[in-house]
Amino acid sequence: MAAAGIFLAGTDTDVGKTWVAAAILRSLGSAGFQVAAYKPVASGFASAADEPSDAWRLWDAAGRRWKPEDVCPQSFAAPIAPASSARAEGRQVDEELLRSGFAACRSRGDVVVVEAAGGLFSPLSDQTLVVDLAKEFALPVVLVDAARLGAIGRSLAAICAARAEGLRVAAVVLSHTTPPGDDVGPTASRTIAREAAAEITRRTGLPIAILDHGAKRMPPGIDWAALAAG
Ligand SMILES: [Mg+2]
Repeated sequence: MAAAGIFLAGTDTDVGKTWVAAAILRSLGSAGFQVAAYKPVASGFASAADEPSDAWRLWDAAGRRWKPEDVCPQSFAAPIAPASSARAEGRQVDEELLRSGFAACRSRGDVVVVEAAGGLFSPLSDQTLVVDLAKEFALPVVLVDAARLGAIGRSLAAICAARAEGLRVAAVVLSHTTPPGDDVGPTASRTIAREAAAEITRRTGLPIAILDHGAKRMPPGIDWAALAAG
C-alpha cells in the first residue's frame, strides 16, 4: 500500500512552509512513524546538502536517513523561480524527476511530507505548476500561510482556488515567521494569528494550527497521522 502523505502548499513564498514541514515530520517521527520528506525542486542553494537549505532542514527533521539529495533531487543556486535558476546554469528542470523523486520518497516511509516551492500556482518548471503536482500526487493538501496581518484574505483565497482546482484541502497552518514582539492586545502578532485562525475555521470548517516562531514540533490539536492517511 502506498504511504500516507501530506502536500504542503503555501499562499506565497516565504510564509514558513519549511518550518511547518519540519515540525510535522518531527511530530510524526516522535509518534513512531517512519517519515520521509520530499521537495520536488529548490532554488537558492547549489546542492540539497548545503546547510541550511530547505532540503537539508527537511532531511534533518526526517531523522537524517538517506541523503539530502533524496529529499530534493533537483537544486539550483540562484534564488529565483526554479526554471530560471536552472537556465542560469545552462540546465533545465527534469520533469520526469519531479515525479519519480516523489515515488522514491514514498517508498521509504509510512508517511511522506511534500513541501512544494512558493505558492499553489508557482511554477516548478516551464510546464508544471505546484497545483499540477498536487493533483497528480493526490495527497491531502495543507495550506500554509504566514501568521501576520492579511492571513484571512490570503488563506481564504488560496483555499477557494485549491478547491476550485479539485484539491482536497485538509487543514491550514499559520506560521509565525518572525519572533513575537513584546506587544500585547489587539495588535500583537499572537492575537492577530489567533483571531485569523478563528475566522478561517468559521468560514471554511477546516482545522487550523498555529506554529510558533522556531517551534520544532506542531502544537497539539490536529492528528497529523490521521490527516495524512486521508
Ligand atoms: Mg521552504
